[in-house]
Amino acid sequence: MSQADKPNPYTVALGQLDRAAKIVGLPPEIREILSQPKNELIINFPVRMDSGEYKMFKGYRVQHSNILGPYKGGIRYHEQVSLDEVKALASWMTYKCALHDIPFGGGKGGIKFMPRQHSPAELERITRRFTHALGANIGPEYDIPAPDVGTNGQVMVWMMDTFMNVVGFADKNANRRVVTGKTLATGGSYGRESATGQGVVHCIVEWAREKRFDLNGSTFTVQGFGNVGSNAAKILARTGASLTAAGDWKGYIINTDGLNPYKLADHVQKSGSVVGYPGSRPITRDEFFATPADIFIPAALELEIGVREAKALAVRLIVEGANGPTETEAEPILHEKGIDVIPDILANSGGVVVSYFEWLQNKRSERWELEEVEERLAKRMKRTYLAVTEYAAAKKCDWRMAAMAIALDRIGRAYQERGIFP
Ligand code: NAD
Repeated sequence: MSQADKPNPYTVALGQLDRAAKIVGLPPEIREILSQPKNELIINFPVRMDSGEYKMFKGYRVQHSNILGPYKGGIRYHEQVSLDEVKALASWMTYKCALHDIPFGGGKGGIKFMPRQHSPAELERITRRFTHALGANIGPEYDIPAPDVGTNGQVMVWMMDTFMNVVGFADKNANRRVVTGKTLATGGSYGRESATGQGVVHCIVEWAREKRFDLNGSTFTVQGFGNVGSNAAKILARTGASLTAAGDWKGYIINTDGLNPYKLADHVQKSGSVVGYPGSRPITRDEFFATPADIFIPAALELEIGVREAKALAVRLIVEGANGPTETEAEPILHEKGIDVIPDILANSGGVVVSYFEWLQNKRSERWELEEVEERLAKRMKRTYLAVTEYAAAKKCDWRMAAMAIALDRIGRAYQERGIFP
């Protein structure tokens, strides 16, 4: 779906806020505060290309709320990045952290450009110049970026290194945790790279347990085969579930006998897309959405599931690996069709949970074993999943509203106790 066909993501986020605010009886002034981010930063900056020419870039950092802790959220490199997209994503980060009772607020950032069209050297200069321009607007106790679409551990390491080199020699090491999602060699945490996909699978396993659904022999489809989509697919395949269709920016593929998610991820690594994977057949986007399966994992961009896609989908469960993949108008259609939806702020929260663990490890100069990270993540995901489904049952609302309501209740209480300054 082209960007022009999609609704404004910030309008969608505001609609969700309004509906959940009613459920918890959020005071109107707190709803007003949350309806706009605290800070919106737009930076235009020049970068030298490999050709010697200079090109201008537009970068964003939006800080939505820090009532519960430092701003926290990813940095996106994508040609469709816009202020309203980043505002929506920043607000979802606020609710995601609050839902998990993690002492972070919400932020998000990005640069509007096509990273695929740039060499690693150009990507490094773009990242370093943007980080330098952000200056003191980020910081380990103030605003902590992480990877998102189009960025990865290497990009985070460039950000960290740039930040560390401007804070002063003596403070250098205390600033390692200015970003999370770093590589293992440079202060990252075991389990962070796969954490979001792992969290998606924890939700699916909990759902299957509740519904007495056997994952072994079941089928699933994935849109977006990057960090979240490929890791979710690899981990879910261990339960005996079979990946039958996948797609990304370039196109969609199917093999009803099953696609090997490990080999498919290698193919994407080498070729940049799922398209052309040996043993698969190309299909259209419409055919992908109409492919029958038990589970669908959207793990690409926001608002990919509109009314048309909702009508076409023939699955039992949607697990929102992506942020904001479902349009407001699509939700009642999915509901009527009896399709369960595990909402983004719960389903993809494994990433920020392990980002929090990484931040804690950096702060304490510790390195936790993979088993410890995985155990702690599993415990948090299960606890929060249960809290959401119990809340939804008690208040007779859907899981998205339950997750948002739990988050708003925590934020509302903090405002009530602290008051609004002065
Ligand atoms: P990524 O860059 O690793 O992968 C993005 C995938 O989406 C790629 O396969 C890309 O080809 C595909 N894509 C891009 N444009 C598309 C289009 N127009 N149509 C179909 N596919 C398209 O990014 P990621 O980190 O895996 O993030 C994916 C989603 O998960 C995003 O919504 C992101 O906000 C969300 N998320 C990521 C994390 C994380 O830890 N990385 C955490 C929580 C949520």
